[in-house]
Amino acid sequence: MERDEGTLILLVEDDKTLSESLRRGLVESGFSCRCAATFGEAEAALREALPALVLLDMGLPDGDGAELLRHIRRRDAKLPVIITTARSGISDRVGGLENGADDYLVKPFAFEELLARIRVQLRHSERAQLQWTVGDLKIDLPTRTASRGGTPLDLTPREFDLLAYLASLRGETATRQMLQLEVWHVRSAMASMDNVIDVHVSRLRHKLDLSGGAPLLHTVRGVGLVLKEPE
Ligand code: CA
Repeated sequence: MERDEGTLILLVEDDKTLSESLRRGLVESGFSCRCAATFGEAEAALREALPALVLLDMGLPDGDGAELLRHIRRRDAKLPVIITTARSGISDRVGGLENGADDYLVKPFAFEELLARIRVQLRHSERAQLQWTVGDLKIDLPTRTASRGGTPLDLTPREFDLLAYLASLRGETATRQMLQLEVWHVRSAMASMDNVIDVHVSRLRHKLDLSGGAPLLHTVRGVGLVLKEPE
């Protein structure tokens, strides 16, 4: 039995046997699946409906998978793309990732492996959604604004970045190292960063608590910081 609902995956694969077996597996796993056997069909499918993820064979009869990948990236920088390739040459894989693939699988691969990779990519892209809610806190990424209980928060750009990053973790704890890398984009270990981070965290907490709502920013002793509704 097939269902029409479910997250849409565009499967670009010219090997009919492989395509059919992947399609069946994906549908049985609760996904919707649109199949394309050629570059042209894939382009048409992309015009019709935007999938949540593209599974892309690098060797297509009427065009290079890498070219299709560039085409996809020009239209949507965030659409997760997993490339599959029969050619195990490292240059293909590296080339694919440089061209904007999010992950790759070398054929033959186990279906369970593919499913696991798809789920990882979908989780990442879910994090890239444009609006988040934590309790009565709303964060809007396109406008870079946040509000609590309808009252706008007056945040500096860095405070907003910090808040948005914490929200993207969906209840997982951020360590200082994670904040340093993801919010301040500082890769090397710098003791002086700890102070900077702590000051921003404390200001952000103060602003979040101004509304009198329940505290949302919690310190996990010895680990880091988590943004979530109190239990
Ligand atoms: Ca092929």
